[in-house]
Amino acid sequence: MELCRTVDELKQHISHQKKHHRQIGFVPTMGALHNGHISLLNCANQRKLYSVVSIFVNPTQFNNADDLKKYPRTEQADFQMLEQHHCNCVFAPTVEEIYPPEKNFGVELEFGIVDKIMEGKHRPGHFAGVASVVKRLFDIVTPDVSFFGQKDFQQLAVIQLLNKQIYNNRLEIVPCAIVREPDGLAMSSRNVRLSSQMRMQAPLIYQTLHEAAQKKPMHDVQHLKKWVVQTIEQHSDLKVEYFDIVDALTLVSITHWNVTNKAVGCIAVHAGDVRLIDNINF
Ligand code: AMP
Repeated sequence: MELCRTVDELKQHISHQKKHHRQIGFVPTMGALHNGHISLLNCANQRKLYSVVSIFVNPTQFNNADDLKKYPRTEQADFQMLEQHHCNCVFAPTVEEIYPPEKNFGVELEFGIVDKIMEGKHRPGHFAGVASVVKRLFDIVTPDVSFFGQKDFQQLAVIQLLNKQIYNNRLEIVPCAIVREPDGLAMSSRNVRLSSQMRMQAPLIYQTLHEAAQKKPMHDVQHLKKWVVQTIEQHSDLKVEYFDIVDALTLVSITHWNVTNKAVGCIAVHAGDVRLIDNINF
């Protein structure tokens, strides 16, 4: 596995691979890797792509300075894990390497409602930060295929719009299924920060989403939205920041079930000082 710290080093490896007609499969991450990240790498490797995983805690997507400070950083363990799972190249740059002070890498994109609701509403500036770092990384890595987790459902929608508006859909964006702990909790780098009490209660998030999805045929949308929030808050110390059921393609909040359109229930929950997100198909 190659380890690149600078843009120039990475570009050399990439151009060498491209000269040998190898396609590039890219997995952007913020490190503190777990099996959710590894599932994305496995998808790239199954397709026999030259796999590049980036580890970069992007400061511009954190709307909360404390969250950025406390974000787990486990670089050596991450490298070991990537090596064990046959990553071809890890790109672990500094902030100055990604954002040289003399240049401006902000992007002006039109996301419609997609970056204004749910995560966008509760984390102002978050998706602008995500879009600018992903564009910067795409321009450096020049991937043919890029892999993103469905755990960050709204982020995936933003990336698909970025791909359309900037790259004319030149990249292939592959959505990958959510990887969960045996008790159902969606894997997240933030899970290690949960207190033991919150870790015990956190599986209630997915259990409740799962039960709600099963109740769908018997209940209307408004009732299920209320039921999810009440069930979680009545049975735990978790605090629901939002729960919404949205059209899977447009992300517009739905009020009635529609037989032809898929819907996704998206939730953000505060477990003590750790913020968790999850989603499920309805
Ligand atoms: P992060 O390091 O949290 O920015 O995540 C990097 C990538 O891994 C994103 O595309 C995430 O959606 C994806 N990811 C994170 N957690 C999971 C999970 N539990 N299952 C699948 N993909 C995930």
